[in-house]
Amino acid sequence: MKKTIKDIDVSNKRVLVRVDFNVPFENGKVADATRIRAALPTIRELIDRKARVILCSHLGRPKGKVVDELRLDPVAEHLSDLLSTSIPKADDCIGEAAVSQVHDLKAGEVLLLENTRFHSQEEANDPDFAKKLASLADIYVNDAFAAAHRAHASTEGVAHHLPAVAGLLMERELIVLEPVRENPEHPFMVILGGAKVSLKIGMIKRLLEKADEILVGGGIGNTFLKAKGVTTGDSLVEEEQLDAAEQILEKAGDSLILPEDAVIADSASSGASHQTAPIGEVPSGWQVADIGPQTVKQFKEKLDPAKMVVWNGPLGVFETEPFAQGTFAVARVLAELEATTIVGGGDSAAAVNEAGVSDKMSHVSTGGGAFLSYMEGKEMPALSALD
Ligand code: ADP
Ligand code: MG
Repeated sequence: MKKTIKDIDVSNKRVLVRVDFNVPFENGKVADATRIRAALPTIRELIDRKARVILCSHLGRPKGKVVDELRLDPVAEHLSDLLSTSIPKADDCIGEAAVSQVHDLKAGEVLLLENTRFHSQEEANDPDFAKKLASLADIYVNDAFAAAHRAHASTEGVAHHLPAVAGLLMERELIVLEPVRENPEHPFMVILGGAKVSLKIGMIKRLLEKADEILVGGGIGNTFLKAKGVTTGDSLVEEEQLDAAEQILEKAGDSLILPEDAVIADSASSGASHQTAPIGEVPSGWQVADIGPQTVKQFKEKLDPAKMVVWNGPLGVFETEPFAQGTFAVARVLAELEATTIVGGGDSAAAVNEAGVSDKMSHVSTGGGAFLSYMEGKEMPALSALD
C-alpha cells in the first residue's frame, strides 16, 4: 500500500498537492465543481494539521502556452467559497513570483498555482521543470487520481525529488477499486456502455475474466450486435472494431448479455422521431439511441442477486432527454441494490448525477481515462512514483 498524508508529519511543512481541478467553465465560472469538492478532504486535513498548502493542477489543453481562458482564477474563487476563506492564486506555477508567494505562506494557509500545462515541459515530463516544481515544497502529495495514468511533470516527475505520498481521494479510489479489480465478490456484474469499444477493449478483456456476466448497451452494444450479424441500421457502430468484438463475443459466450429491445430514432437530436423496437428491427435511416424498457427489466433481473457491480458507459445518448431513460432507469436499479456499486467514467458519473442517485452508489470514481487504465491493470505512472 502507498503511504498517505496520514503517515507523515506535515506541520509547518510546505506541501505541494497535485489535485485534479480540470473542471468545466461556463461564463467564466466553474460549471461543475465535483472534482474540486472531491479534493476538499485532503485540503481540509492539511489545513487542520497546519501545513503550508500549495495546490497545483492542469486545466484543459493549452498546449504549452498561456491561454487566458484556461487560467485557474475561477477555480480559486470557487475554492474560496467552499473553504470560506480567500485563496490566493499565483500567476504561474514556477518562477520568482510563485517562489515568493510560497515563501510568504503561513501554517494552515493555502495557495493555488497557475495551470501547469501553460508550460510544454509539463506534458513532456521534463526533469528540470519537475525539479523547479519540487523546489517549491518539502513534501509532495498526489490527490489527482483522474490524472494518475499520465506521466507528466506534476504527476510523476516531481515525485522523484520529494517525499511523495497519496492524498485522501487517491487513497479512497484505490481502497475501493483495488478489490474490484483483483478479487471481486460474486455474483460480480459489469454494465458496459458508452461510445467506443476501441477505448475500452483492454478493460473489457480484463473484466471478462472476473465478471459473472457483462451487460452491454450504448454504442458499444451496437458494435457487438453488428458483430453478431444483427441489423443495426444507421446506429453508431465502430466498423474497425467488429473483429475485436467478435473475438470477445466468442470468448464471453453466454456471459455477455446484449439488449433485447431498443429506443430507435431517426436522429440523436431531441426533436427526433423515436419509438421502441425489438433488437434487430432497425430500419435504415434509423439508429439505436437507447436501451428499451424490456432490456431495463432484463438487466434488473440480472442485477438483483449481485454482490458487486461496476458500471462504465451510458446505455444511450443520455445527453438528449428522450434517450436518457434507459441509463437513468438502470441508475435507479443500482441505487436500490444491496450490492457494492461502483460507477466510473466521466459521462457515466455525469449521468448518475443527473439521475439524482450519485450518493446512493458505494463509489463514483473521479477517474475517466484513469479509471479505464486502472481497471485494465495498466501501470499508473503517477501511482508507481509514490512512496
Ligand atoms: P464514459 O465517459 O462514462 O467512459 P463514454 O465516453 O464511453 O462514457 O460514452 C459516453 C457517450 O456515449 C455519450 O456521449 C453518449 O451519448 C454515447 N452513447 C451512448 N449510447 C449511444 C448510442 N446508442 N449511440 C450513440 N452514442 C451513444
Ligand atoms: Mg466519456
